[in-house]
Amino acid sequence: MKDKPTIVWLEDVRIEDVPSVGGKGASLGEMIHAEIPVPRGFAVTAQAFRRFLDETGIGKQLFATIRVNVDNAKELSTAAEAAKNLVLAAKMPQQMRRDIVSAYKELGRREGENPLVAVRSSATAEDMPEASFAGQQETFLNVKGAEDVVSAVQKCWASLYGARAIFYRVKQGFDHESVNISAVVQKMVNAAKSGVMFTSNPTTGAPEAIIEGSWGFGEAIVSGSVSPDTYVIDRKTRQIKANIATKKTMVVRDQNTGETVSKEVPIDLQNKRVLSDAELFTILDLGELIEDHYESPQDVEWAIENGEVFIVQSRPVTTIKNKEEQRTDVATAEPVKLLEGLGASPGQASGRVKIIQAVDELDRVLDGDILVTGMTSPDMVPAMRRAAAIVTDEGGLTSHAAIVSRELGVPAVVGTKQATKTLTDGALVTVDGERGIIFSGRLEAKAAPIAGPIPVSAAKPVTATEVKVNVSIAEATERAVATGADGVGLLRVEHMILGMGKHPHWYIEHNQKDMFINELEKGIRVVVDAFFPRPVWVRTLDAPTDEFREMEGGEEEPIEPNPMLGWRGIRRDLRDVEVFKMQLQTIKNLINYGYDNIGIMLPLVQHQSEVRLAKQIIAEMGIDFQQIDVGIMIEIPASALIIEDLIAEGIDFVSFGTNDLTQYTLAVDRNNENVAALYNEQHPAVLKLVEYVIQRCNKAGVVTSICGQAGSDPKMADILVRMGISSISSNIDAVSRVREAVARTEMRMILESSRDSTNEN
Ligand code: PEP
Ligand code: MG
Repeated sequence: MKDKPTIVWLEDVRIEDVPSVGGKGASLGEMIHAEIPVPRGFAVTAQAFRRFLDETGIGKQLFATIRVNVDNAKELSTAAEAAKNLVLAAKMPQQMRRDIVSAYKELGRREGENPLVAVRSSATAEDMPEASFAGQQETFLNVKGAEDVVSAVQKCWASLYGARAIFYRVKQGFDHESVNISAVVQKMVNAAKSGVMFTSNPTTGAPEAIIEGSWGFGEAIVSGSVSPDTYVIDRKTRQIKANIATKKTMVVRDQNTGETVSKEVPIDLQNKRVLSDAELFTILDLGELIEDHYESPQDVEWAIENGEVFIVQSRPVTTIKNKEEQRTDVATAEPVKLLEGLGASPGQASGRVKIIQAVDELDRVLDGDILVTGMTSPDMVPAMRRAAAIVTDEGGLTSHAAIVSRELGVPAVVGTKQATKTLTDGALVTVDGERGIIFSGRLEAKAAPIAGPIPVSAAKPVTATEVKVNVSIAEATERAVATGADGVGLLRVEHMILGMGKHPHWYIEHNQKDMFINELEKGIRVVVDAFFPRPVWVRTLDAPTDEFREMEGGEEEPIEPNPMLGWRGIRRDLRDVEVFKMQLQTIKNLINYGYDNIGIMLPLVQHQSEVRLAKQIIAEMGIDFQQIDVGIMIEIPASALIIEDLIAEGIDFVSFGTNDLTQYTLAVDRNNENVAALYNEQHPAVLKLVEYVIQRCNKAGVVTSICGQAGSDPKMADILVRMGISSISSNIDAVSRVREAVARTEMRMILESSRDSTNEN
């Protein structure tokens, strides 16, 4: 094998030459053969590298140096440094040097004297030629002159012993001595534009090409330092969907030094579309040729110089995971923590960061991506469903992002303050939704992700205290039912209404009240039907003005200095009676269809007059109190303190909205990450209010429940069961945990009381 020449020309290379030129070199040869425009060049063979090790005599020492414990980051980096220096310091054998120099000169004769070249590493394993080491070794761009080419080749060889490459080989079970490296020397494309293309959808395999493009060299996209434009082309109809990103960074050749530098994209180009339709079709045509040649979908890198399209690399697409692994660090010896926030929805997931600044960019979020945004909104729900995980700058554990992620079963970290600024679009990260941490690269999953229906433990404990579930979006119903919960303790209608996209007043002003009622009815019906005959407490609208102002027709929403203390909850519906009545009509319709499992729950009650007036309107609407339970949320300390007056108005149940009760008791804004550390639902003052209400309600025969986030905490469940609460309503992911905690506390209480009575006897 060592008798192979030092140099082979790319046009003479075929796929069977992988052991000599690696996968990258062989693929370039194949493409030239298929008449794809590939920049010409030659490869310094893997056999030449082996002869270099033998003739310089460094092989033995080299392999001894890198036999270290790769899990010890320090040991690994010291060994890698020593090994690389060994390769760089060795003097290249004379004949080998002469061969490389003369090949470069020959390239100059063909392509113009002293051409600028890219020197790329292409590693290959002797025993497993199909193994991929892409992304592990280095590439050198804009190299000029024979001496620099020789030195770049030697640097490529040295990069076979970088820490990341050593780590990867050990973890993948490759013997260092059987992995070789070839260096591909290829005429440089001085790219004005470049990017990547999947010839077919990498997730579904559907015939739709996905092309990403940006200004300058492709390195900006591959390294993830720029958000590229994304174009999706339906290969059958040739229809193009273009998503134009703001491109801030470009990698170019410095005019003076000739070096490759990263610089800011000129302002007039930042938001300009990179590729014309004609260019897209040329790239697509080439992609289809390559796909036909290899008979499999391809992940292609392309570049455009003076209007001419070149293909600089192509590799088969197997899965998204493979693509990510090729582009970025596969696994880091020590995972690097990039960012912290609040763990809002449990589970761990890895994927490529997609930073979304505006709703019209949502198409960029593909299956398995990490959606990173300031704060989610209802029109982001389809993209949230596609995402592997969600990260936001703003928000607390009860923000839209947190609630919806939990219901969809997508891991989420909220309130990071700076995710959209510090994470890099396109980079591979791992999101730990439990601990609230974002790591670089792909980490081994700790546990199975929780997407899909929540498994219910085979033996579901029967508890005297009912365990219910919270629902905010109809899409979560299947998962909510799968928990085996005893009913829905909170159905938030505002998420359904926000999801309609138009403000309730839009429907009123356009004489479309029926449309509103039908839409809302559809959403609520999914839930009451799925849970029938178990009770579903439908909470009437709790719409903060700041969120509703964003909707079409919401321009009239008053601007308030503090929306949390403003026009929301029942106080709003009692002044905006038409909107209240539209909701009641929806509920009335459902009762008429035979759903007798609905309860009406009034949010943010502050005084008994509100309950009286609300009940009056409910009665005026023709809703019979014999057919329906009416209850209130306890979210304001005032309502807890006057609970007896509220009971006197005739209520069937109360439910603690501890999200608000905590913020109003402690003067801590629930959505403000700066004071998140002070936010404590188990603060003695909050618990005192809760206990006070439970005692009075139990005396009066009024059912008590909790539907705030605290109801998902097993510790809180223990406290509440001991206080005598009737039911607990949790998030979907927490139901089975809370049910176990409730069962345990109930058994302990029985045990304690039997011990007490034994002691008394
Ligand atoms: C609460 O305040 O605890 C509650 C459940 O209501 P929301 O989070 O919708 O304000
Ligand atoms: Mg509330």
